[in-house]
Amino acid sequence: VAQIIDGKQVAAEVKRDVTERVQRLRERGIVPGLALVLVGDDPSSASYVRSKRRLATDLGLNAMVHELPVAIQELDLVQFIGRLNEDDSVDAVLVQLPLPSHLHADRVLAAISPEKDVDGLHPANLGRASQGKPPVWPCTAAGIVRLLDFANVPIAGQTAVVVGRSRLVGWPTAQLLLSRGATVVQCHRQTVNLSSYTRQADVLVVAAGVPHLIGREHVRPATVVIDVGMNRVDGRLLGDVDFEQVAPLVSAITPVPGGVGPMTVAMLVANAVSLCEQRRGKRG
Ligand code: NAD
Repeated sequence: VAQIIDGKQVAAEVKRDVTERVQRLRERGIVPGLALVLVGDDPSSASYVRSKRRLATDLGLNAMVHELPVAIQELDLVQFIGRLNEDDSVDAVLVQLPLPSHLHADRVLAAISPEKDVDGLHPANLGRASQGKPPVWPCTAAGIVRLLDFANVPIAGQTAVVVGRSRLVGWPTAQLLLSRGATVVQCHRQTVNLSSYTRQADVLVVAAGVPHLIGREHVRPATVVIDVGMNRVDGRLLGDVDFEQVAPLVSAITPVPGGVGPMTVAMLVANAVSLCEQRRGKRG
């Protein structure tokens, strides 16, 4: 029977750790500041931003949501981000994606100061990630590796297969696993004969956004499966892995919900605190 890796339990550990680090900063008179930029009124983006602010506030940060109108001009948004870059009380800046279609996400993300880039999506930080040492790893990738470490899953020398190559999830996860010493195969929409790769995996990370893409034919008993997918189907939240089929056949697996999801928000707050420590120095 597979070990079920409990994301809520690991997230609770991350939160305890963050609370202590915030406490140490506060003793030096520093309150880590997180600026959350929400453009437009997409309800699910608004709800993600609210839960990020709530957790950051609970853990002792100064978290502010900046709601900007959907029709904002790109130049105005870039200037707004520029003011956050200059504001010394702001340690971390997050621009919630997706942006309205008249705005170029690449140019907007590039306006964030690399040292305040809490999602790790600035081109300079993607470059540093490709060298294995970004200021912070993107939240979902960081959360996945924390789950593996918690479950005592070895990474160095193991074969890791990542399904998905998005800038937000798949690519940084592959880079982080590579930097930890895994042999990494990155699969994507154009990959032919997906199961021939996934069946080689010691660690299989699935971030494709396709409900139940991974079934019994994609795994073997030694596989540890991390399911990143969050797909709303008929009001239910489904993963990219068919849990019922796969769980009995593998060594460990994350559930949806309750696996990677709770980790991502916790790692966002952890990243904000890391940027604060880096920018303001560990010592007083
Ligand atoms: P995306 O659409 O940007 O990227 C999907 C990737 O999967 C692409 O690289 C694509 O080539 C690949 N892919 C698509 N269909 C495939 C197939 N049939 N076979 C192999 N590869 C295929 O999505 P994303 O932003 O990377 O998110 C992926 C999933 O993870 C979504 O379900 C999303 O909701 C979820 N997600 C979860 C969290 C979390 O915290 N749990 C965070 C971010 C995203």
